[in-house]
Amino acid sequence: MGGSSYLLAIDQGTTSTRAILFDDACTPLGSEQIELPQIYPRDGWVEHDPEEIWRATGAVCRSAIEKANIKASEITAAGITNQRETVVLWDRRNGKPIHNAIVWQDRRTAETCRKLIEGGHEDLVRERTGLLIDPYFSGTKIAWLLDNVDGAREAAESGQLAFGTVDSFLLWRLTGGRVHATDATNASRTLIFNIHTQDWDDELLDLLRIPRGILPEVKDNADDFGVIEAELLGAEIPIAGIAGDQQAATVGQACFEPGMIKSTYGTGCFVVLNTGKTAVESKNRLLTTVAYRLNGKTTYAIEGSIFVAGAAIQWLRDGLKVIGHASESEGLARGLESTEGVYLVPAFIGLGAPHWEPSARAAILGLSFGAGIPHIVRAALESVCYQTRDLMRAMADDGAAAPTALRVDGGMVANDWVVQFLSDVLDLPVERPAVIETTAVGCAFLAGLKTGVYGSLEDISERWKPDRRCEPAMDEETRKRLYAGWLDALRRVRGPSGAG
Ligand code: ADP
Repeated sequence: MGGSSYLLAIDQGTTSTRAILFDDACTPLGSEQIELPQIYPRDGWVEHDPEEIWRATGAVCRSAIEKANIKASEITAAGITNQRETVVLWDRRNGKPIHNAIVWQDRRTAETCRKLIEGGHEDLVRERTGLLIDPYFSGTKIAWLLDNVDGAREAAESGQLAFGTVDSFLLWRLTGGRVHATDATNASRTLIFNIHTQDWDDELLDLLRIPRGILPEVKDNADDFGVIEAELLGAEIPIAGIAGDQQAATVGQACFEPGMIKSTYGTGCFVVLNTGKTAVESKNRLLTTVAYRLNGKTTYAIEGSIFVAGAAIQWLRDGLKVIGHASESEGLARGLESTEGVYLVPAFIGLGAPHWEPSARAAILGLSFGAGIPHIVRAALESVCYQTRDLMRAMADDGAAAPTALRVDGGMVANDWVVQFLSDVLDLPVERPAVIETTAVGCAFLAGLKTGVYGSLEDISERWKPDRRCEPAMDEETRKRLYAGWLDALRRVRGPSGAG
């Protein structure tokens, strides 16, 4: 099977820009990746150079096509997936960015956000966008650029400037400035998009003083986004799918039914639960967001994020230097019966959903003289599983239907021990697909859906195949005891004020 149609996936992430060329059976035929330099102008500020992103995008596409040994003219369509929330403003006349991109991690608008919350605007924002007021999202970053770059506000008011998340900026460049658009998932992370009406929200635009004239058109995830100019890759290629990275992973994992859930374990961890046609409002400060929009119909999701997942393993490697490579963690964990009561709470940058405690800090608890490096390493891996359970408990508390399995991806799930322990702690089957680059797979699926390579979502679901499925194998008593120990460790890290 396969081999007759080719799809190009452009995956522009926070730390790298990648391209993968797939056949219609979703087999990667060629791929290339270029690291993206991080720019830290001040404490808490994070920027990317959009020109660097643009150059890397062209280079990885050309190389992936070359490695796959096919001609650009044979490619049916391209899809784009991207780091979400990151903001670029550029001049429509020449396509030049007026400033570096402000990256999602950037905290420069913390004070603005604090004032908006104090001003009592959080309920409005929550109701319209499904988000919280936080520097994480695009809105206050756009406002910052308009207020801080010379002449930007006037240029924006006179229609000279364009705003986009990274997908939108790349789309503009790839189409030679012909298309200024984004998709519903990227729009849903900006703080100015009404997820119920699927339109930019005038009240929120007023609140943040953002002129409507700079905004892109919001399209479906599988849609006609124009064509990549012939001179870039050697032939015109239609762009037919765009989605933000976590939503692309949701599509790549074929989570198309309400109750289906995926979790991506990279540096951090993102859990996305499909809630179907209902935008479920969380009581637990999880985000309500667009999973995907197809043929004008929106499917919603709730999303929870854990700041530190694989990053805890990186810290063991680079900070503590107790392992030489992330993959060593697996053998160390397997060598023990248990951590013997040791817990690591990886609150290195505070705790994310559902705790939201920015000032909490990491700790290792329960050490006895018998504890050694393997206990700490295993505790770090376990912490990621316990945190996933915290998130899934919050989702259940929000009224979400109980899932029947968790689909996982990301660099950390190369670790088979983690996948099994996750299943044990959640008391839920955990499935890992053969291709774990699910973000790239997802945007290729979307592009293929629009161009007829795939007939329907069912057609895509059939191509999704687990290469590993773990069933829970832990007895209930152990599961309860271990999780109770985790909750106790959490309470101690959060201190008296955060207890509960
Ligand atoms: P990102 O896309 O966020 O850069 P990746 O999906 O590439 O992240 O995953 C890399 C992360 O996975 C790193 O933080 C690394 O520590 C972790 N990781 C990679 N391999 C393993 C492993 N075998 N066991 C545990 N963690 C791992």
